[in-house]
Parts: sequence; structure tokens; C-alpha cells
Amino acid sequence: MRIYISVFWLLLSFTTVQAQTGPARVLPGETALSSNGYSVTLVLALSRAVPYRVFTLDNPRRLVLDFSDIDFTFMPSGMADNVVQVSDLRFGYFKPEQSRLILDLSEPFTIETAVFDDHLLTVTLARASNAEFSQQANPPIDGLLARNQTAAIIQGDAGLPLVVLDAGHGGIDPGAIRNEVAEKKVTLLFALQLRDALLETRRFRVLMTREDDSYLELPERIRLARASQADIFISLHANTVEQGVARGTTVYSLSDEASNDEAANRAEFENRSDIVAGAVLLGQEDEIANILIDMAQRETNAASVGFADILGATLRYALDDNAPSRRMAAGFRVLRAVDTPSVLVELGFMSNTTDLANLMSQSWRHEANLAIIAALDEWLILAE
Ligand SMILES: [Zn+2]
Repeated sequence: MRIYISVFWLLLSFTTVQAQTGPARVLPGETALSSNGYSVTLVLALSRAVPYRVFTLDNPRRLVLDFSDIDFTFMPSGMADNVVQVSDLRFGYFKPEQSRLILDLSEPFTIETAVFDDHLLTVTLARASNAEFSQQANPPIDGLLARNQTAAIIQGDAGLPLVVLDAGHGGIDPGAIRNEVAEKKVTLLFALQLRDALLETRRFRVLMTREDDSYLELPERIRLARASQADIFISLHANTVEQGVARGTTVYSLSDEASNDEAANRAEFENRSDIVAGAVLLGQEDEIANILIDMAQRETNAASVGFADILGATLRYALDDNAPSRRMAAGFRVLRAVDTPSVLVELGFMSNTTDLANLMSQSWRHEANLAIIAALDEWLILAE
């Protein structure tokens, strides 16, 4: 089963790209349109990454890319001449601070992936039936735009394994709160430090689902992992309990049956994220539930469980003996990507003063980062 990605709206965090001002320029050398009959690939090279969205429209069939301001001066001409599936390629100013690029499609093709990797936006279209095309073709819904803000730039050298780091919660969904510290801050702090540590090794590429205090729906986090064809998706959270003295990290993999009541409660809390934020899921929930049945998930699940086991062990070895890392399984919605191995890590208990101090400590986070990197190295070697 294949899920088509109908709309991406990727508002990029400008912290890494703010140095340059004015419209991003098209770089003609790396910009290309190609087809092998079954797929069409558009590569658009820009002088820097910019916010964008991509969607398809019917009657007539076309692919639309919206960007913030783009300077098309050096856009190569005649790009569609040798691609029979694209009858025309048009571009230009659309409305203030928004540019648009349109591919007129002579045959039905749907969006398979759209990824901004550094300065290269690659959109891949897959051959589809008329019905499939019509089903995907939809103008973006304005109400959705603000919710799907994310920093979707892949960092690191091409060809390296891609790790998607998902800082749990964000924006109007704070997650758990203890001593005026919100889980969304703890997870982002950890994710940003882990990103830097991963990039420093020069053995990984990294994509963050968010790099700031923005809110993302759970399905959007999954979509990012799939669209980027990530090797592994790591969702980061921090635990809380009302009573007791629970401590330590917990590594979760997806399972229809929770390990125990604690794991079930945890999944229920984390799955509530979209309800907290007022996002109504409607059909999405069914779609995701159906994916669970799909055969393709078995292989992905085995890979997820393999990584979760290794990660549980490396964290147990690296961190405090008094708070051994635990390994559990439960039905977390954010782990239900059909073809991306995924784990969820509860980094510690915010309800415990020692754990909370650890979470806020750069040196503790560094130790945990090293354990995660060791787990990734080991898992990738075993997967070869
Ligand atoms: Zn959480």
C-alpha cells in the first residue's frame, strides 16, 4: 500500500539560512527535469532553501509548487522539451512574496516525495491512474498551513544514513509540565544537541521535524520521515508520573499490545497531542490504522525492534546505574510509518528531580547523545 502525500507545507526555520537576503535565485547548472516513463523527477537548485509547498490540481492536470520569493532569471529554458509526460513548465510571480512553478502534466502522475536537501528541492512523481490522480489533486487548505510549520532541511553530506529527529510536542501542545518546565522545551533542547553531535561525527545526515517552538500534527511528523526516505525516525519525549519515584530512560517500539499498563498509559498520553492542539483527524486515523495491517510493516517493525533493543542496551550501559534504561512497546501513533524504522525515547522522568536536572544538564545530554550514536553505529553495521 502506498500513501500519497497530498500537500506539503514546509515553513523553514531561517536560523541557518538568514545570512542571505532577497529572493533565492535558481541555479541553472543543477536544475533539471527528467522521466523514465514510470516517474518524473524535478530537481530545482536554489541559492538557498526557502519555504515551499507542493500539490497537484485536476482539470487540467498540473503540479504546483509555491515558494516564497524566487528569482527565476536563470531558470533553464526548454526543460520540458524532452519529457513527454510534461506538456509545459511555467513559472513566475504569483502574489506578493510568493512565486509559483507549474508543470502541466499530459498523463496522470501523483506526488511520491518532495524533499529539500540543502539547496536542492527534489520532487518525484509516480505514474498513477486517473482515479488516483483525481483523489490526490487538491488545493491546499489555508487552515492547515500554519499548523505544519517545520524546519525540513536535511543537513550533512549526501549519501550518509539519514536520521530524522522528532522533538516531541511543540507550539500549542506543551506536553507534560513540571516545575514550570514544559516537555516541548526539554525535547527540543535534547534534539538540537543530538543533531549537532550526529553531524559532528560526519557519519550521518539529520532532518529535524521541528527546530523551534512550532506545532506539528503526528501524521505530519510521519510524512516527513517517509518523504525524506529516512533510515531511522527517533521521536524524543520526557516522561512524568503523578506518584512514585520512577526514573530513567525508556525506549519504546510500536506494538498493538502494550508491554504493561504504564506503557499503554504513556502511548495514550503521547497520542493525545493532536487532540490537545485541536487538530481533528477525521479520515487520517483510519488510514493510519489500516497501514498497521499492511505486510510491509512487518519488516519495518523488525528493524525498529532491532534498533530499540540496541538503543536500550547502550543507554543502560552509558547512563546512571541507579536508573536503568528500560525497553517497552506500545501503540504510539507517531511510530506508525509504514516503511521507516521508528522508535520513541522517553528521555527521563520530569516528575523526578534528579532526572529533571539531568535533562537540563548539557553534560548528561552529551552522555545520552553518545549512547544514541553508538546504538546507531551498531545497528547500521548489523543491517549491512
Ligand atoms: Zn511526550
